[in-house]
This record gives sequence, C-alpha cells and structure tokens, in this order.
Amino acid sequence: MSRVLIVEDEEHLALGLKFNLEAEGIDADIAGDGESALRRLLGAANHIDAVVLDVMLPGINGFEVVSQLRNAKQYVPVLMLTARGRPEDVLRGFEAGVDDYLAKPFELPILVARLRGLLRRKQWAAGTEMNAAQPQAPATYDFDGKTLDFGTLQLHLKDQTIQLTVMEAELLRHLIRKEGQVVSRKSILEDVWDLREDTDTRAIDNFIVRLRRYIEEVPAKPKHLLTVRGVGYKFVAKAK
Ligand code: CA
Repeated sequence: MSRVLIVEDEEHLALGLKFNLEAEGIDADIAGDGESALRRLLGAANHIDAVVLDVMLPGINGFEVVSQLRNAKQYVPVLMLTARGRPEDVLRGFEAGVDDYLAKPFELPILVARLRGLLRRKQWAAGTEMNAAQPQAPATYDFDGKTLDFGTLQLHLKDQTIQLTVMEAELLRHLIRKEGQVVSRKSILEDVWDLREDTDTRAIDNFIVRLRRYIEEVPAKPKHLLTVRGVGYKFVAKAK
C-alpha cells in the first residue's frame, strides 16, 4: 500500500485528509510543520511514496521544504497545495521542484486523482508496476551524446548526471515519444498532467525552461526542445 505524508498545520484539514485518503486505500501520516516533514523525509527509512505539501506553514514554508528536499537529492513526488488566485505560487513551486499542484479549496476526488497519478508514475519509474494502458517505454534513450535512464530518472551528460523529478521525466518522455512532431500545450496538459484545461499553461513553460537547462548547451538557443510559436513544443533528437 502507498504511504503519503500530509504536511499541513491546520489540524482539522490534515485529519480530514488523512481519513479520506485512508478510505481510498492510501496510508497517510501527518507532519504539522516543514521542519518535522524534512526530518521525516530525509530520515534513513522514511517509506513515504508521495507528499501533499501546504505552502503556508509555520516556520519554513512549503517552497523551502521542497527546495531542501531536492537539494538533499530526495525526489519523492510532491503535490503542493496553493491558495487560490496565486499563480506566482505555482510557478515558484515548480521552480523549487514540485511535481504537481492543487489550489485550495480543492475537491477531494481531484486531490485523490492527482495523488494517484503521481504514485502511478513513481511506480512506473521504479519499474514495479506495468500499466497495460501505458506501453512500456525503453529503459534508456540516447540522443546527442546524452542518455536518459527512465528507470532511475537520471539524465547522464558528458560530465555530469542530473536527477529528474517524476514530472520532468514524464514530460521529456512524452516529447521524446513524439520526436520531430509538434506537441501542443493542450496535449501536454491532458497526457502528462491528466487533463486540466484550467491549468495555467505557464507551468509547462516553466518545466521546459528547466529541461532546457539540463539538455541544451545554450538554453536560450535550444536545439532539442524547440518552441513552436502559438502551439507548443517539439523535441528534436539530432541537433542541426
Ligand atoms: Ca497551512
């Protein structure tokens, strides 16, 4: 069974969430602030498969929590809860290394669906579950002297290895599958993020900026991850 850590200081919210997740067959633990969440997640045996992380916390906030996790090479999938009407929080969250977000107040079934999406991708990445609906991706993908390992979610460059988050790897995989074709932002929203026409598409652009920093020699002049104006993006394996 999957185990989720709920990081939320409002106790009634945290307990309600825990109760509902457990009714859905997902075990849940609670951390009331960022510091205790970090102690838990950076501990030797944490057994946490995903994190539901509130932004507004006493002490260090959710952005700081996720930054510290990623800096410590802890890549557990993180679903961030933001206050409604704060798109800048979403962008800041993705910048810090968040995998997905939901605005408060949220509908519980939506939260469960998003969490399941993250858990499924994590299992897929770990190779512990083969979903029949998802054709098996190659274990590794080589392009232009780089190797992307979908098992470990690592990108091996000439002189360094970069650890990708689940959603970064998922987005790259989606673009690679459609190598040479234009992929619309709408299709990325639907196929990578599981729909969400309400999602701010700048969140995608933010991911692309990060991926370019990883795979492009000159991120401002991309040769692999091309912008197709007004439509979306195109991945080209062989740089011209
Ligand atoms: Ca809070």
